[in-house]
Amino acid sequence: MIDPESFRVRSDGFRLDRIDPAGNGGIDKEEAKARVAERNARLEVLQELLWADGRHRVLLVLQAMDTGGKDSTIRRVFDGVDPSGVKVAGFKRPTETELAHDYLWRVHPHVPADGEIVIFNRSHYEDVLVVRVHGLVPEERWRRRYHHIREFERMLADEGTTIVKVFLHISEDEQRERLQARVDDPAKRWKFAAGDLAERTRWNEYQAAFEEAIQETSTDWAPWYVVPANRKWYRDLVVLELLVQTLERLELRYPPAADGIEDGFVVE
Ligand code: AMP
Ligand code: MG
Repeated sequence: MIDPESFRVRSDGFRLDRIDPAGNGGIDKEEAKARVAERNARLEVLQELLWADGRHRVLLVLQAMDTGGKDSTIRRVFDGVDPSGVKVAGFKRPTETELAHDYLWRVHPHVPADGEIVIFNRSHYEDVLVVRVHGLVPEERWRRRYHHIREFERMLADEGTTIVKVFLHISEDEQRERLQARVDDPAKRWKFAAGDLAERTRWNEYQAAFEEAIQETSTDWAPWYVVPANRKWYRDLVVLELLVQTLERLELRYPPAADGIEDGFVVE
């Protein structure tokens, strides 16, 4: 059994390099796949219940290094889940209009409404990650953002949003293999961006930026979970366990029946 809480970042002395990206929790692939299918079926039920209940909003923030598996995690974890109640918001390089506003301006409209699950594929965290690594704003400016982000997320949580943040943790070697696969496989080539190699040379800077961002913003109301992600089947399983556990904790229920049908009747 996997305890998703064991992946939660709590301590002040959080060190990313102490977490093994190749970890598999002692589970083998076959076992994991069976459990993934079972947990995915449970997620389907819980998502419908979340929608029917209509009192909660759920935000899953996904961050990773390039090739870390954000897209495929979304595809596999939410496989078969009713797309009507689930939205994915991806955050790419900001447009001119977005850059002319504060960095949270483009993010806020995408947070979940009652009954919804929203997945952020990248997020406002890019504004303390890529922005930091590339020096797109001065340090004093991005450094203040940890505080803004904590408080922005606190506001969302206070107003009824359950927030779960996941960092998919891969190793530098695993990234090399995945980039190579993108070069070698014609069906994957479209995913390869020329800039990916330049970004890869900044691996250590990105790891440092992630480590600090995660430590600074893992709060009671919006915790970070660092998920070993070299093995896709283990990654999928941990994210599923985490989501299912999060939804179970909400104690979701179906709303009361419409007036007059509490005891049921025969429809003519
Ligand atoms: P991808 O997810 O591979 O399609 O790439 C999206 C790109 O957008 C990545 O290179 C991100 O670093 C970049 N990006 C996302 N948010 C920001 C931001 N706030 N500022 C600058 N670049 C960003
Ligand atoms: Mg990319």
